[in-house]
Amino acid sequence: MRTGKHYSLKVFRVWSFIFLVAGCVQQRDANEGSPAAQTPQQPAAQAGSGPVREITSITGDLYRARENNHYTVFLVTSQGVILADPINTGFAEWLKSELANRFGATVEYVLYSHHHWDHASGGSVFDATATFVGHENLAQALSAPLPGNFIAADANRNGRLEPDETAGGLRANFDRMDINGDGGVTGAEINVDIRPPDIGYSNHMAVSLGGKTVELIHPVPAHSDDMTVLFFPEERTVFGVDYINLNRLPGEIAGYSFEQWDSALALVEALDFDILAPGHADMGTKADLAAYRGYFETLRAAVAAGIVEGRSVEELQLSITLDSYSGWLRYDSQREANIADAYGLLTAGP
Ligand SMILES: [Zn+2]
Repeated sequence: MRTGKHYSLKVFRVWSFIFLVAGCVQQRDANEGSPAAQTPQQPAAQAGSGPVREITSITGDLYRARENNHYTVFLVTSQGVILADPINTGFAEWLKSELANRFGATVEYVLYSHHHWDHASGGSVFDATATFVGHENLAQALSAPLPGNFIAADANRNGRLEPDETAGGLRANFDRMDINGDGGVTGAEINVDIRPPDIGYSNHMAVSLGGKTVELIHPVPAHSDDMTVLFFPEERTVFGVDYINLNRLPGEIAGYSFEQWDSALALVEALDFDILAPGHADMGTKADLAAYRGYFETLRAAVAAGIVEGRSVEELQLSITLDSYSGWLRYDSQREANIADAYGLLTAGP
């Protein structure tokens, strides 16, 4: 029985899935750069070679939880916890124990930001108590031969990734993720530890528990087609993952137009909030989000001007130094890639 749970939504479907066989995709980083420089209010739960895990207070009953450079949030209510991404199985097991010990609470909802494995894995840990919610495109993304953000990496177009087609966290964990040991990883293997949602929504949905509410908002697709932003109106806080970064250069821009990026970020900027808690790195304010949206505008203008001058992408990677962003995380690792992505977007045919 889930008395006390209420959700309302414009469009929803209850999906019936045969759950994927739970695998054991352990903690791994997706080459996401340096963790946030923030002041922890609780010491790291683990030190040494294990993952750094901690829980910090955001405001009121809203908390941020960390595993290395991946972050999620959770809201504690009198009837249990509303959790965003479960991140991975090891983290979820640790968090489940922490929630029981600190709050005497169980997770009643898991609200996915999107389907990418480094954020969405591990939810089965909360199976006994939780209802799982994600954007309606999430289910389709899980059943795709490869997740959308890996399709471009499949250079030989054989529907799976061989080691030389991988990088970052996937490369580092390739052997573990190649569950059947056939030398390639498929979407089913990448997503094996993702517990599919019970409920899908279309544009907007509200979840209420214990007198508290969180809104799920689907922006124009950017970074992934199944993005959800969580808005905690009482806490005046937004949780957004991967497509939102603060004081940090974006990852891959290609795949979505500058108009999509701008719309997706402007939608969040228009919400009535004070605190933004991203899935990676620093928390910040609405002004930080505006600066991040401004980065896209600056990048686009600079690359567009270079294209008009007939310059090559290699020339632009040398000349467009984006100096005012040199203090942001990933400036060294992503600046040239961002310029190349922008060049591709602005020179692509209709
Ligand atoms: Zn992602």
